[in-house]
Amino acid sequence: MTVSSPGRVNIIGEHVDYNDGFVLPFAISKRTWVDAKRSEKFVISSRGYGRVEISSLKKTGKWTDYVTGVLKELESSGFKVPPVEIKIWSDLPAGSGLSSSAALETAVAFAISELLNLKLGKMDIVNISVRAERNFVGVQCGVMDQYTAVFSRKGQAMLLDTMKITHEYIPLNLNGLSFALIDSKVKHSLSSGEYNKRREETRRVLEILKKSSYRDVKIKDLEKISDTVLKKRAIHVLEETKRVVRAAEFLRSGKMKDLGELLYESHESLSELYEVSCDETDFIVEFLKKNGIIGARMIGGGFGGNVLVLDREEKIKRIFKKMSDEYFKAFKTKPTLMMIESDDGARIEGRD
Ligand code: ADP
Ligand code: MG
Repeated sequence: MTVSSPGRVNIIGEHVDYNDGFVLPFAISKRTWVDAKRSEKFVISSRGYGRVEISSLKKTGKWTDYVTGVLKELESSGFKVPPVEIKIWSDLPAGSGLSSSAALETAVAFAISELLNLKLGKMDIVNISVRAERNFVGVQCGVMDQYTAVFSRKGQAMLLDTMKITHEYIPLNLNGLSFALIDSKVKHSLSSGEYNKRREETRRVLEILKKSSYRDVKIKDLEKISDTVLKKRAIHVLEETKRVVRAAEFLRSGKMKDLGELLYESHESLSELYEVSCDETDFIVEFLKKNGIIGARMIGGGFGGNVLVLDREEKIKRIFKKMSDEYFKAFKTKPTLMMIESDDGARIEGRD
């Protein structure tokens, strides 16, 4: 029996998922497939990664932690998992912000639930996968990635409230436009340390304001913050969250130009106020803007990675070609372009 789970992109709402904000993700048609069957021993294999026999559910610091983490969390939830053989394959690029980790975790949880008839609900799969990544792998992730991998529907984005953990589907009617990703091909080592720093800075603002959630903070409250860096971080969180709600409206009413403008505003805020962009992604976004592309912004943790682009496919391809040459002159690296389509969340592929 095979199940699969998709990667995702988030249209807008960057660095707000851990600050009780809204996000607007959708699943993409790049997936991870998992086949699970009963076996004599615990064996995990993944195409391109290798085959490993597991003697105990202990952390190893390797890719298998994403799988054993899920098995361990299933056990912690009271399910006895007998020896199983788990086969994994994927066409989803790993480690580039498309959330291959959540696709893997949710697919494993779903596959085991189906195999052993555990009858896990969608939210159970999300929670087990989030706990596996937080407690076992050790990444303090929000809930967005696993939630999107499980609840997505082809042709729909989700306005996800990361405080209430509820969502609303919004049709991805792009009026003939497409989303694409440009990979800057740079990954600065800053990213994880700076990520934790931003988490700490935004938490500190709440502490100073004596509030428990950004939902209760108004822009006016920030007058009480004297530290200019902390103030900039908090302005990003409040304004980005507002942008997501507006973006959802524009998507609903087919106002693509307005949606594109919000993507540029989001990028500027991430670059100037949250300070998580870098020369390379700034270069790409500025080039696209100058050449009349409808919208673009850096996505993910920052300091490199991908830029999300919104426009007609033909125009994106044409401008990308021009940009790519200039980018190479400036940074001695070639960026890559990938067109994206939406897809369904975790699903059963077939039984054998
Ligand atoms: P992202 O989730 O953005 O792709 P992460 O760093 O969170 O990046 O997760 C990437 C890691 O997840 C990989 O380095 C690998 O350890 C694990 N992983 C993802 N997909 C697979 C796969 N198909 N097989 C084995 N491990 C995978
Ligand atoms: Mg991940």
